[in-house]
Amino acid sequence: MNGVQAVAKSYQLFNPRAYLQNNYVPPRADFSSEESVMCWKLRCLHEACAKGEIKGHNVVDIGSGPTIYQMLSAFEHFKEVIMTDYLEVNREELWKWLKNEPGKFDWSPYFEYVCKLEGKGEPWQNKEKRFREQVTRVIPLDIHQSCPLGKELASGSVDCLVSSFCLEACSPDLETFQKALENVVGVLKPQGHFLWIGALEESYYLAGEARLNVVPVTEEMVRAALGKAKCIIREFRTYSMTPAMKVGVDDVSGIFFVWAQKAANK
Ligand code: SAM
Repeated sequence: MNGVQAVAKSYQLFNPRAYLQNNYVPPRADFSSEESVMCWKLRCLHEACAKGEIKGHNVVDIGSGPTIYQMLSAFEHFKEVIMTDYLEVNREELWKWLKNEPGKFDWSPYFEYVCKLEGKGEPWQNKEKRFREQVTRVIPLDIHQSCPLGKELASGSVDCLVSSFCLEACSPDLETFQKALENVVGVLKPQGHFLWIGALEESYYLAGEARLNVVPVTEEMVRAALGKAKCIIREFRTYSMTPAMKVGVDDVSGIFFVWAQKAANK
């Protein structure tokens, strides 16, 4: 079994509900504290999208898992919103929320917080309804394929990509991480935007029975990887995990946020 196959095997035990419970409730998602890592992530995404440059026809989230928070600012600027994940259990969890079915995860505090950031006085329920209507597809992907989205989306066809905690969490080593980044950037149009959030210096995380290995990366490594993938960094921010954010479900030391743009001539 090679490294990529071993990662794929480890994901067979991934439990979406345990993953949500580990990362997307307090203290990591505590909206009463601006210091919480979730508030930081949502502010980074909001501020980049509020600049007015990030817009177009379609936005694709790479490796959505069972989560939608990463799209709450970007989706406003695109007609078509596409969510993706490697695992069927995650795509099912997303559909459960999109179809408003019983037992869905509660993302309402996230909508409330982003509505507050946007400052338009919009009731969060309206934004939630618009988001549900705008997601047109939830499709499988594999970042280790040269066309990660297969026939669904050809290379050079996407205006904007969002991705959070996927590339480093599914690559067995730095070389595969680099290749996966290049595969993903391949679906972007020249000058397309990439909003990327990831873990710094993390070696594993838990999701129920699953213990997933992560390739540990530093800010310098992420910057170099983007350069090799012919992306221009527009903004790079980091967050250091505070003691309150260390909850025993991983060994992450910080988070990076990047707004990058694919070079015009690639
Ligand atoms: N984006 C979500 C978030 O912000 O919490 C989920 C990130 S989770 C750490 C990593 C995700 O990568 C999982 O949903 C997993 O199913 C997905 N994944 C695993 N192998 C993959 C592959 N080969 N290609 C794309 N995604 C993969």
